Amino acid sequence: MRAEPKILDVAQALGINLKGKMAHCINPNHPDTHPSLMFSPQYNRFKCFSCGIHGNVYELVKQYLNIDFKGALEWLRQNNFVERESHYSKKTSVASSDLKHEKKTIKPVFPDANDMEIYDEFIHSLSIEGQGREYLLNRGFTNQTIMLYQLKYLDNPVKSFLEIKRKFGLKKLEHAGLVCRGKFVFHQQCIVIPFWDENIYYIQARNLSNKPKIYNLVGKTKPIYNFRCIDNKIVWLTEGVFDALSLLQVGIPAMAILGTSINDYYIKFFEGKNVILFLDFDASGQRAIDILAKKISGAKIYILKKETLDGNDPNEIVTELMDKSKQRTSSGQWS
Ligand SMILES: [Zn+2]
Repeated sequence: MRAEPKILDVAQALGINLKGKMAHCINPNHPDTHPSLMFSPQYNRFKCFSCGIHGNVYELVKQYLNIDFKGALEWLRQNNFVERESHYSKKTSVASSDLKHEKKTIKPVFPDANDMEIYDEFIHSLSIEGQGREYLLNRGFTNQTIMLYQLKYLDNPVKSFLEIKRKFGLKKLEHAGLVCRGKFVFHQQCIVIPFWDENIYYIQARNLSNKPKIYNLVGKTKPIYNFRCIDNKIVWLTEGVFDALSLLQVGIPAMAILGTSINDYYIKFFEGKNVILFLDFDASGQRAIDILAKKISGAKIYILKKETLDGNDPNEIVTELMDKSKQRTSSGQWS
């Protein structure tokens, strides 16, 4: 897959005065006397340690030039950071015969620029404080994971809905899959999970109680979470996003297939890979293993079985392992 523009290159092209990986803050409301803005080439993100603004390449361009998402995309195109004929453009569709040829550049899903602008706006209007952060910390996620994967908390669904409705109108929200029959899809307090590579192309949410657990966009094909790790030789597949995040947090290249099946579109990408199936240990997970193992025929499949592990799903297992290793190192030898 095509790589995201490098954040230091973009910063330079914007004319930001870099001192190594640092710069004076770009927030006009933050008169920064020392360079407090740090760039992370590894994560391709920026963050101001004084006022807290942070984000990816797109956010950097938006904030620095004080323009919207579309404007930022256009600027990146004009400066050759993004291909002119983006796969995100409205008319793009990929015939299956083109798949092989375009294997390295195509994207897993094709929302249009309007949808992505809405996702971007919505995600950046949310934060992750209070109840949401507490919930994630209790599930074993670290603050770094929360920040890195841009996990957010929808604290006030009504207010958030009114805000984006005012900005985009019902029709556009419906097209983006956020509204169905006039109703906001994320209608309860929930953890909001953006799916992104260069841009946010999908959103899933999960409420803190257990009924119903997951909200998906309406009328959109479910993509694979963290599909960008397909560049690895070994990939781990889990059912849910939290399972994948639990693995990612300990450095394992994982993706979540959002259920127990994979859209045909993705199958080709697994050719020649080593695929570790780490699905839930319930009946449907185990049935899915048989089906997936047949379907992903071009890959070498490994299956993780319950007998050797503590817990019912990857999230529980990894959390359990982390707790154990914490106990083991609580004597302080690592710190
Ligand atoms: Zn700042």
